[in-house]
Amino acid sequence: MTDRRGLLIILSSPSGAGKSTLARRLMAWDPSIRFSVSATTRPPRPGEVDGEHYHFMNEAAFKSLVSDGGMLEHAHVFGNFYGSPKAAVQEAIDRGEDVLFDIDWQGAQQIRNSALGQHTLSIFILPPSIRELHRRLRERAQDSEDVIAKRMQKSWDEISHWDGYDFVLVNDDLDKTEQKLQAILTAARLRLSQQPGITAHVRALQSEFEEME
Ligand code: ADP
Ligand code: 5GP
Repeated sequence: MTDRRGLLIILSSPSGAGKSTLARRLMAWDPSIRFSVSATTRPPRPGEVDGEHYHFMNEAAFKSLVSDGGMLEHAHVFGNFYGSPKAAVQEAIDRGEDVLFDIDWQGAQQIRNSALGQHTLSIFILPPSIRELHRRLRERAQDSEDVIAKRMQKSWDEISHWDGYDFVLVNDDLDKTEQKLQAILTAARLRLSQQPGITAHVRALQSEFEEME
């Protein structure tokens, strides 16, 4: 058994609030963190690489993965299916590695209610304002005006689930939000449930204590 059990780190936010940016920064800060590459039926955006950003697949392949029990969670978002393949997550957690999920509130809820729920750290990212959220979506320049409008319409739906998370961060200054994220992760790794080796250490302390008596 490793000294540490891996955490399932979940980042959710309305689209454009900055969770992908924060996820990238967190993994650059600690390269041992694994990213859970989701499966999706949405088409790739320019620059997106199959197997790196998403596993892109058609609806039939997605549904068969779900019916075979291969998904830890799955949801329908913006007219497409998204899900987190289970096997890669379980293997990483068993090796004591943390896995980062960029998923919506439905996925977060399903993972929290799963057998791995106690090893979950969930963080919700809020934008400083709706005006700024809109500005960031346009600045990202990855979506058409139509898609941006759809994402803006859906943003309140996502924000309304903010209170189901362990932590909520307002992503105003990017550097400050990143520092807070690092602090949260550092603390969560020290939770009792994440330190399977701690019982043996306490037993050793007890033996030493008794020998001194
Ligand atoms: P999400 O993954 O939540 O959809 P992104 O990480 O893609 O959002 O961020 C959307 C846009 O906002 C990107 O262009 C990103 O560089 C920018 N951004 C993210 N966080 C901040 C911030 N704190 N201040 C200013 N711009 C930001
Ligand atoms: P995008 O199309 O912008 O990459 O993602 C759209 C939304 O789907 C985002 O809110 C993102 O967090 C969510 N999402 C991405 N992958 C998954 C997944 O595997 N499961 C769930 N439930 N949501 C996901």
